Amino acid sequence: MGAKKENAKEKKKISLTSKIFIALIVGAVTGMVLHYLVPDGNIKNDVIVEGVLYVLGQGFIRLMKMLVVPLVFCSLVCGSMAIGDTKKLGNVGGKTLAFYLVTTAVAVAVALGIGTLLRPGIGLDMSKIQVNASDIETMESASLAQTILNIIPDNPFKALANGEMLQVIVFALVVGVILAKLGERAEVVANFISQFNDIMMEMTMMVMSLAPIGVFSLIARTFANIGFSAFIPLAKYMIAVLIALAIQCFGVYQILLKAFTGLNPVRFIKKFFPVMAFAFSTATSNATIPLSIDTLHKKMGVSKKISSFTIPLGATINMDGTSIMQGVAVMFAAQAFGIHLTPMDYVTVIGTATLASIGTAGIPSVGLVTLTMVFNSVGLPVEAIGIIMGIDRILDMARTAVNITGDAVCTTIVACQNGAVDKEVFNKAE
Ligand code: ASP
Repeated sequence: MGAKKENAKEKKKISLTSKIFIALIVGAVTGMVLHYLVPDGNIKNDVIVEGVLYVLGQGFIRLMKMLVVPLVFCSLVCGSMAIGDTKKLGNVGGKTLAFYLVTTAVAVAVALGIGTLLRPGIGLDMSKIQVNASDIETMESASLAQTILNIIPDNPFKALANGEMLQVIVFALVVGVILAKLGERAEVVANFISQFNDIMMEMTMMVMSLAPIGVFSLIARTFANIGFSAFIPLAKYMIAVLIALAIQCFGVYQILLKAFTGLNPVRFIKKFFPVMAFAFSTATSNATIPLSIDTLHKKMGVSKKISSFTIPLGATINMDGTSIMQGVAVMFAAQAFGIHLTPMDYVTVIGTATLASIGTAGIPSVGLVTLTMVFNSVGLPVEAIGIIMGIDRILDMARTAVNITGDAVCTTIVACQNGAVDKEVFNKAE
């Protein structure tokens, strides 16, 4: 009895990340065995691959999709309420916001570039994987005038019900800004939405606790259908995301830091590294907020007056690492499905991924949820998300480290421009 309890405790200790990794490997092995060793037949094809594995995998994807509209809506309202507050900080708020948006757009552009260069999706023959017609939500091509008009919801409730993400975003932003403006007069609604936001975050955690089952089924089905040839594109996708993250983190940010403040980027990285490691291991920007503010203050001399506003705002709306993953994922899916993206599609991806970054909550895996919105904006099949989902956990960890580094760099720049960085503290060797 006692030993059993001990055992149960031991089991509990396995973190979700480890479980997902185990599911990934076991799923891949199961899929390979099915592909290479089990002869085709009713049991294998209809019962296992297109039966159990399909239902479990798609069930998990549906659960993720269930989260999208309410999660993005609430998170965006809360985010834009915070932006509404920027007026209080005037100059600082405006500059921070501009930095956050521009760095995110640059991040997506870097990701699209790397995705084009490395072509991770080439070689993955998706035609062998049966795609459910309802999963392919292609947008009809519309004229530019219509595309612009389509951003404005003529009926916000219809937009919410149909998952018209751009329209949902516009409506959410307007609601958030007005809530910030009304302040106490609309306190009840503001509280309601922010509590609903908490509910959605909790629900995300719950859905993610099923990720091992979802990941196992999705990966096993992919490998059962296409065998070893799935491995190379997935590895390439991972490498492409990691390269783009490294360029953003060690290239773009450090150039910006040097150009705008003259501070030593190597020193910055060295001193900020423990915060990055923390974000990496937890995969949540939100949890990193206190450590980030503290490190910026104690080791780099950044005034808390600025960071206590810009860091939480960044953790809510600035997710450059997440948008990098989304940019590469778009290229991966387009290549795998042989879908040609037009220049207008690239612009749409930069726009929606930047907005998705605002709508991504700073907790694990949400970037994958908001990815459906980016895919839908250019008519890519969300089926592809099922394939990359299996390896997303490790990328989530890496992109979260980049997300919070972006917040810290912007904070340091804005603080420096406002004379709120003690350079002596920054330059002091550790
Ligand atoms: N885990 C990320 C963060 O907290 C969000 C995501 O990309 O899923 O910053």
